[in-house]
Amino acid sequence: MILSVGLLGATGSLNRSGGRFVEEAPVDICIVGAGAAGLAAGIFAGEGAAETGLSCQVVLLDGAKTLGAKILVSGGGRCNVTHDVVTPTDFFGNRHIIKNVLAAFPVQATIDWFASLGADLTCEETGKLFPVTDKARTVLTALVNRCQELGLVIRPDHRVTDIVRLTGAESGFLIHHTHGTLQAKKVILATGGRSLPKTGSDGFGYELARRLGHHVSATSPALAPLVLDETLFHKDLSGISQEVELTTTVNGSVVDRRTGSLLWTHFGISGPVVMDASRFWASAQEAGQPVDLCVNFLPALTQESARQWFMEQAARAPRRSLTKTLAHLATERFAESFCRYVGINGQTAMAQLPRKDRDRLLVALTKFRLPVQQDRGWNYAEVTAGGVPLEEVNFRTMESKLVPGLYLAGEILDCDGRIGGFNFQWAWATGWLAGKASTRPVSSDEKARP
Ligand SMILES: Cc1cc2nc3c(=O)[nH]c(=O)nc-3n(C[C@H](O)[C@H](O)[C@H](O)COP(=O)(O)OP(=O)(O)OC[C@H]3O[C@@H](n4cnc5c(N)ncnc54)[C@H](O)[C@@H]3O)c2cc1C
Repeated sequence: MILSVGLLGATGSLNRSGGRFVEEAPVDICIVGAGAAGLAAGIFAGEGAAETGLSCQVVLLDGAKTLGAKILVSGGGRCNVTHDVVTPTDFFGNRHIIKNVLAAFPVQATIDWFASLGADLTCEETGKLFPVTDKARTVLTALVNRCQELGLVIRPDHRVTDIVRLTGAESGFLIHHTHGTLQAKKVILATGGRSLPKTGSDGFGYELARRLGHHVSATSPALAPLVLDETLFHKDLSGISQEVELTTTVNGSVVDRRTGSLLWTHFGISGPVVMDASRFWASAQEAGQPVDLCVNFLPALTQESARQWFMEQAARAPRRSLTKTLAHLATERFAESFCRYVGINGQTAMAQLPRKDRDRLLVALTKFRLPVQQDRGWNYAEVTAGGVPLEEVNFRTMESKLVPGLYLAGEILDCDGRIGGFNFQWAWATGWLAGKASTRPVSSDEKARP
């Protein structure tokens, strides 16, 4: 609790840490974190205030020296801004709350909003939307320019070290940062998660939320590549992609099954299907639960139809080698490495392949346990699974249910989307809700009204 917070003239007041001065007049809204969600929240707060004709001072503090590093690296430098169809099932977390948040700011709103900022989006065949320039810089510039037009103050290199809630006569917050202390009536916490910590999102935001009274559910890397045991054949196939079905089993129960493209790499596996499945593997690992990742290399076929197909091939081209035959289903390099790994001679003519080898091969091709050693960690994960429980915020406003005047937006919340623009859609939608709502009276003020 603040013991003595009296305003000292227009520019200073005493704060809890004793003797340090709040170096400037209080502002209306302080946004902690100027990433995707923070910038969106700032813009919508600024626009909301402009609509009502009220003056509203918005300051964004960001710990990173260079703004928007994550936006710039996103989507391979192209920034996959959103997806043509976004549903709650594209996300993990409390789907009832996620559904309400997504409905408040749907995909078309994102498209229209970016167009209004001068950044038109275009949709790829995959359903992913990118800026027409194909450059993530366009997205960042559009957001920052709009902040400037609205007169928002953005301060890079201002890492927030603590947020203290004011009590008593004076409501609001003291925000301690690396250059001093700022007083604000409201705070929007948009510090992201733990992924790619060198961009500034190193998980300290969770500690800030915790100190303000929030819970933080266990975090683990999501959308991360996976490292395989050295003894597997992945190195030989580095750079090759193939369609597979991946099944994750935790404690003996299937928790996820999905089909898509797997990319072999020098360390193990990546590609969309692996990135999407990684959250289940990593969170089970984090919780100390036994987890298995199995791959079906013939996703279009059942074991029975694969057996039929093999027999037909043996009848049609009996002298063709096993490797050449398998190359019809996957690449020849995969076929060679796979046969070698399971100890079956790939040069064997189909007609000569012993039945027991064929059956063994079929089982291995359709139910192969991947020897996963670890996920590739926070430096390679694109998002964070876990965070501040969605149940602790009002999904209509993103205001904390525990701390009136505090709002949360973006990846700090316990919600992660699959690959394809869904995580940015979450950032824009929560930013929209928090930004708009933060220009209205705090919930405790509302309650106080007759
Ligand atoms: C390599 C990569 C590629 C990606 N590509 C895509 C993509 O194409 N499409 C997609 O939808 N998603 C993508 N994502 C995920 C997406 O970038 C994030 O989900 C999104 O940026 C989250 O937005 P955010 O504002 O909540 O957090 P962030 O973007 O992480 O921003 C948080 C900000 O808070 C600041 N901050 C943190 N702590 C403090 C503190 N104590 N004081 C002050 N400031 C602080 C950080 O410096 C940072 O600027 C990608 C992620 C990565 C890592």
